[in-house]
Amino acid sequence: MATMRAARLHEAGKPFHIDEIDVPEPRQGDVLVQVKTCGVIPNMNAIVSGKFWHHLPPMPAVIGLDAAGIVAKAPAGRSDIREGDRVYVNPFLNCGQCHYCRSGTALLCSDAALRGYFGFTPRGAQLLDDYPYGGFAEYLTASPDHLVKLPPRVTFEQGGRFGYLGTSFAALRRGGAGAGSWIALHGITGTLGVGAVLLSLAMGVTRILGWARNRDVLARLKSLSPERIDTLALGDAPLKDWVRERTEGVGVDVLVDCTGRGGPAAPVAEAVNCLKRGGVMVNIGALAEPLALNPTQFMTAALQYRGSNWFANAEAALMAEMIEVGVLDLSPLQPRIYPLEGVNQALADIKERPGGFDNFVVAVS
Ligand SMILES: [Zn+2]
Repeated sequence: MATMRAARLHEAGKPFHIDEIDVPEPRQGDVLVQVKTCGVIPNMNAIVSGKFWHHLPPMPAVIGLDAAGIVAKAPAGRSDIREGDRVYVNPFLNCGQCHYCRSGTALLCSDAALRGYFGFTPRGAQLLDDYPYGGFAEYLTASPDHLVKLPPRVTFEQGGRFGYLGTSFAALRRGGAGAGSWIALHGITGTLGVGAVLLSLAMGVTRILGWARNRDVLARLKSLSPERIDTLALGDAPLKDWVRERTEGVGVDVLVDCTGRGGPAAPVAEAVNCLKRGGVMVNIGALAEPLALNPTQFMTAALQYRGSNWFANAEAALMAEMIEVGVLDLSPLQPRIYPLEGVNQALADIKERPGGFDNFVVAVS
């Protein structure tokens, strides 16, 4: 039996072990993927701590949310997936049986899980038994339905960022952002925020406003497109006034909340006042505190507040094509590449919150 290296979590909150384990045999109809890269994101430290509401996979667990690699073994009889294909492995697993899955809305699955990460419910965590390999292993098994093909110009380092890019992309689409839109990003300097800026530029958003605390990253964001992007260090000015000065006095069409874990609710509540009448606020952040909203304001100004969780494979495929043809420029992202043995160091380094331009990637094989 061939073996492979895998970084496994043996106990919540403890460092990963590099273990030598058997290369998995794909189930009938599934593929074997040789993992090239797997992304690391700031929230991963919180997830593997086991201290939050998420349901971790049974341990020892191969963690790793966002894998990209090469199909090493394809099932016979499928013409759409071949050995050698470059792919992103979408970690979203849905149960296939609940009301939402039966209704064709898999992203709303009530018992979903993210491979190599966690289940949203205990039943969701059971889905991880079928696909127990996250991206911090040299090989993983997947259903062909989980794969998104990566065209030649999409690098594996970029593929390892697709989870957070896709989350930002879906939020912008749910909010209706596009050509002519004015948008605001709460927490613009983080992994979700920087991705949302690059995607907004690609989607033709006219004016991209955002605020956070890291002045260096704010300045770098502004320099990407000084005419379209404006940034504010939180606390330097009242948000509502600052936004209205830049939007004909009315506010933005879309506000995306990219609050990092542990962020406070008060500035998010203040940010709600930056929406124009009929505007949409989309939450993809990790704000855990209750948020005080004024229902009268939402009624009279016809505002919407909605959540957005992950993204569809079709959206990942759209992103891949946008990169391939040069619409979406990810060149401002700076890869910070670690070997598999350096995964614990990557998790330690990302705790410093260097900002979303740094693309933390484990080069697995
Ligand atoms: Zn379901």
